[in-house]
Amino acid sequence: MKKLKKSVILSFIAVLVVFMAIGSAFLFAACKKKRDNLGSISQNLTSYNLDISLDTSSHTASVKQKVDYINPTDTVIKKLPFHIYPNFFKEGATATIVPNTRVNEAYPNGLSYAQFEISKVEVGGKACSGVYSGEHDGIFEVELPLSLMPDDRVEIAFEYNLALPNCEHRFGYGANTINLNNFYPIVCVYDQGGFNLAGYNANGDPFYSDMANYHVSLTTDKNYLVAHTGDLVEEKLSGANKTSIFTANMVRDFALVLSDKFSVVSAKAGEVNVDYFYFNDADAEASLNTAVDAINTFSELFGGYPYNNFCVVKADFIQGGMEYPNLVMIAADIENADDYKNVIVHETAHQWWYGMVGNDEYLYPWMDESITDFCCALFYDENTGYNLNRKILIESDRKNYSLFMSVYEDVLGKLDTSMRAVDKYATEPEYTYCIYVKGVLMYDSLYSLIGKKAFINALNTYFEQNKYTNAKPENLINAFSSASNTDLTNFFNSWLTGKVVIK
Ligand SMILES: [Zn+2]
Repeated sequence: MKKLKKSVILSFIAVLVVFMAIGSAFLFAACKKKRDNLGSISQNLTSYNLDISLDTSSHTASVKQKVDYINPTDTVIKKLPFHIYPNFFKEGATATIVPNTRVNEAYPNGLSYAQFEISKVEVGGKACSGVYSGEHDGIFEVELPLSLMPDDRVEIAFEYNLALPNCEHRFGYGANTINLNNFYPIVCVYDQGGFNLAGYNANGDPFYSDMANYHVSLTTDKNYLVAHTGDLVEEKLSGANKTSIFTANMVRDFALVLSDKFSVVSAKAGEVNVDYFYFNDADAEASLNTAVDAINTFSELFGGYPYNNFCVVKADFIQGGMEYPNLVMIAADIENADDYKNVIVHETAHQWWYGMVGNDEYLYPWMDESITDFCCALFYDENTGYNLNRKILIESDRKNYSLFMSVYEDVLGKLDTSMRAVDKYATEPEYTYCIYVKGVLMYDSLYSLIGKKAFINALNTYFEQNKYTNAKPENLINAFSSASNTDLTNFFNSWLTGKVVIK
């Protein structure tokens, strides 16, 4: 996600807004880094098969889902938990979706709630039971009739009906787009001796998932264009509807954004097809070119983008932007063209830091948002046509941070500036300034300390060693330590625990 400092701070205190000018697009040379062959490395992964019928007028869907789960742990599994994120959009859970200050933006037509009802659960073809648990029933735990041994597989089948809220968020619809994201039961990550059952939070991107393979069938109104994760492999018309078949190998989620108002422009970034879906944009080609520049630049800097497709989608969404595998949403309410491009760059960087190298972004947002936002600075240094560079960005961040700190401390007292889990911040501005602004300053300090060559080498190593997995803090710290021949543990600790004072 890209928290726009502007919208965050406007809701907190208007006088702190400082934004900068960016420039026109500059085409980066096509990437030369090798691309992985996903077909050959995605064997023996859990797979999801989704059969979705979506009614675009009532914003309801019925879904048949099969999960072929392979036990990736070294322990016996008796209960398999799934995240049920739509339950956080139900009545009573609104505060976990958006901060109180953003409710009117998220629900422009008044509060609106999701429905999510499971009608059938089967394990291995036999009816089975499950129980809800966690905050707002955010977890559904399927009881396995037989214990699942390590590396053994089991098929779990669900049937469920869902209704999207009129909410301009990840899961919901607005005047222009239907955002069908985080809508299906997704297996919790087994981590540190147990399943990670963290729920939703209004701060950050509260998601954590493993790589999987997807086969998705979507039947809906034929007048709707569909932006999607993965590849479109087949499309069939039937009366007023069309059925689209998508496949995606080696992705950690599957996203869909639909609209009957979409136009599409396309271009190539090396071998990658880049589509820009929009319903109004005075300069759609510039937005598309920014996405192409970002794919090319990050492929060259970090490692090849191995997927066939990348969709940038203008969407009814209130929080700047949002990343999914092969698909990013850019908020339609961003009025400034340079801000809009900046969000495209940020969300595209997430294809590497979240998409390919995953992490527990709930617990470690500094491994997710902070490094991603610093990569925007790297992007502008490589693409001089945007008339922005690392030094300008960092100077602006430094001024913003100092202003925020002084105003905050005058009003509310001392601020805990540690870079902690997303649910440990009392307000959205605290989270934004600690993770997006201070986090960027941390990586910039590291960049100045070890130099560009070692910094890029570290990200290359971090990418190569952790792609298609979920990295841990030590993986990232070790990559920077090795590249610089310096033990950087204390460097990171002093920033992460809030000991570093920024002047
Ligand atoms: Zn982000």
